[in-house]
Parts: sequence; C-alpha cells; structure tokens
Amino acid sequence: MAPTDDVVATLAERAGLLDETHAATDRRDRFALPDGVVYLDGNSLGALQRHVPAVLADVVRRQWGADLIASWNDHGWWDAPTRVGDRIAPLLGAAPGQVVVGDSTTVALHQTLGAALRLRPGRRAVVTDPASFPSDLYVVAGLAAEHGLEVLHASPRDVPDLLARRGDDVAVVVLSHADFRTGELWDLPGITAAAHAAGALALWDLSHTVGAVPARLDASGVDLAVGCGYKYLCGGPGAPAFTYVAQRHQAAYRPPVQGWNGHAEPFAMDPEHRFAAGVRRARIGTPPILSLLALDAALDLFDDLPVEEVRGRSLSLSGFLADAVEALVPEVEVVTPREDARRGSHVSVAHPEAYGLVQALIARGVVGDYREPGLARLGVAAPYLTHAQLLRAVLEMRAVLDRGEQTAPRERPTVT
Ligand SMILES: *Cc1c(COP(=O)(O)O)cnc(C)c1O
Repeated sequence: MAPTDDVVATLAERAGLLDETHAATDRRDRFALPDGVVYLDGNSLGALQRHVPAVLADVVRRQWGADLIASWNDHGWWDAPTRVGDRIAPLLGAAPGQVVVGDSTTVALHQTLGAALRLRPGRRAVVTDPASFPSDLYVVAGLAAEHGLEVLHASPRDVPDLLARRGDDVAVVVLSHADFRTGELWDLPGITAAAHAAGALALWDLSHTVGAVPARLDASGVDLAVGCGYKYLCGGPGAPAFTYVAQRHQAAYRPPVQGWNGHAEPFAMDPEHRFAAGVRRARIGTPPILSLLALDAALDLFDDLPVEEVRGRSLSLSGFLADAVEALVPEVEVVTPREDARRGSHVSVAHPEAYGLVQALIARGVVGDYREPGLARLGVAAPYLTHAQLLRAVLEMRAVLDRGEQTAPRERPTVT
C-alpha cells in the first residue's frame, strides 16, 4: 500500500512551511540529541540540553568536592526546593510561594492526597479515573483503604455528573490533566469548578502536561497539584517532582509524612514536629540535590520560551503528525483526539502489533514507546522536534508495516 508520491510531496511541502512558520520556537540547537534520531519519547524522559553536563560537573566538583558542607548555604542548596519551585510556577499559572520540588511524583501524590483528606474530614469517598497512571491508582487505593473511604471510578468526562449525584460524600477528586495512554487533555477548570460546587477538593497530576501545556492553576482555583520533573521539563532520569499547594490551603496543609525539612525550625532539632509557614511545609527530607540542580539548569529552556509558545508549537506538530499518520498509515488508528482543546502533547496509535511496531521504529531511529494495551505512543516534546522530522517518523512507520518488520519475534525488556 505505497502512498502516492504526490501525497508525500504535499505533506513534505506542508512540513517545510510549518517549520518556517514556527522557526522562532525551534530550540533543537540547545539539545544534545544523537544525529539521525527522531526522539518521540520526551513524554517519558526529556532530552538532555547541551549546557546541563557542565552545570552538573560544577555542582559535583566545585560545590560538593571543594566547598563541601558550606554549599548548603553558599550555593543555595538548602533553599533549592522552593527556588526551583518558583521557576516551575509560571508554567503552572501559579504565583510564587506555592510550589516545592523534591521526591517522586508518587510520593508527592501520597503527601498531597493525605493532606487533602485531612482538609475534608467526614466525607467518605474519593473520585479518580480508572485509566489513571497505575502509581496514581495505587496511591489513591492505599490511602482510601487506610482512611476507610470508597473509591469512585469515573472517566474525567463523567466526573461532573458523578459529582452532581454523589458529590456530598466526595472529599477529593484526583485526576491527571492528560491521559497517559491516549493523550486526551481533560477540562481542568471545568472539573475543578464541579468539585468545588460539591464541596470537594481538586488534586491534579500534571506529569503529562507540565512544560508542554500551560495550566492556569491559580485562575482555575485548583487546590493541590503534583507533576513530574523528568518528562517535558527535561530534568533528567529520576528528576524530582513538584508539589503545588494553593496559598489559601497552606496554613492547614498537613501531609502524612512530616519530615525535618518541612519543620518551622529545622536546625532547632526540636523533638516535636511543627510545620513551617507557607509552602516550605510541603518539604519532607533532604532532596536529591544533584537531580534537583540538573532540573534547575534544564528549566533555563523556558527562560525565553513561554509555555504558551511551546503549546502553539506542540499543537501544530501533533496535529500534523496525526494528519500524516492518517494519510500515510491508514491501517493504524489514531486514538488521540483531533480537536486541539482535547489534545495534550502526544499522539497514540493503536495497532495489533504495536509493540513490534515501536521496536522496529526504534531500530530505524524513530524512538517512541509502547503502552498496554496495544498503543504506540509518539511524544511531541515541541522545543526539539520539527514537522519534517515527524513526517520522516511516519514514513518510517509506513516502511516498517510494508516490510512486516513489526512481526519479528522479540523479547520484552523491563522498560517498554
Ligand atoms: C510519569 C508519571 C508518574 C511517575 O511517578 P514517579 O513516582 O516519578 O515514578 C506518576 N504519575 C503520572 C500520571 C505520570 O505520568
């Protein structure tokens, strides 16, 4: 089923024009990507920027190596969780003083949900999406069991109806901004408003949107949020996550793990815990400083690239990608919504041999990933991708299927 040359030529011409239109937001030069690779997995592990290794080497050699313990004061290590948090805040539509960085997303979610449940005592249910990222489901199930609460499962699109029926009993609505499988973007302001109308709190996981899709957390009245540092923020493998606690909740915010970094006077060595004022109370123990400072350096990306502009580029890229797949590879199904307002920053395609398809693409230099059940995910980390590269990715997909390369027998490693 070879595509006609003129379909390919038309797409190539369109890619060229779109790349010219979006030239001002092309940041490929900042990144150290290998030649010949089209990297479509920035939604799982963001790419490395060229300046980051030197920053990290300085942190290791000069700060850790030479200045030793003094670095906690002299190089701002102690305040890094809130300082880096304030650098993430503009990407979230958050005023300063509401974001802390440290620990994994899973831990941050456990902390924020535990604190949220204490803010809504007496309510007996938590609402979440059964299609959530599994770690999020595990956290919700674990805390619900501990607190004797029922978990009500609903797709985000049905949550407002569910709240209209059973909202009186709901303490917290815990949802992801975008579905990690399909890339569908949910109505964060609308669902937050519905949660509030029912007297519940809204806790959002922004792992799959932060750095790619602007959020307006303050304007939407979101109560709590968490998100990942190593996806579109490009903080590096295992980069710490962030926690957003809306100003109005900070005085009453009491997360389940209370550690010395969140104490009002950490160096008073007080045997009793007293929460610090403000968002500092969302800190736990000593954060992974090397990873935190790698994330800090990575955030330079956004110094002259507002996330609203990333979003414009991302929508153009993902829309073009979906069009190209539909034109050139009609036997796969694009499961990601085509409407801009409902699309996050990746495009997922369903195919019975999606795992083999992803592996065969990787062998051809097009790096995406596979997610159960049967989805090839093509992440669009806009700053370092072009329309021309996406067309190449789709042509490689066409070639894989034409040659049957997806059917080759393969062993599955742990990470797919
Ligand atoms: C990536 C991701 C996580 C990752 O959690 P870690 O604890 O950092 O491993 C959690 N939730 C969602 C929705 C994610 O996309």
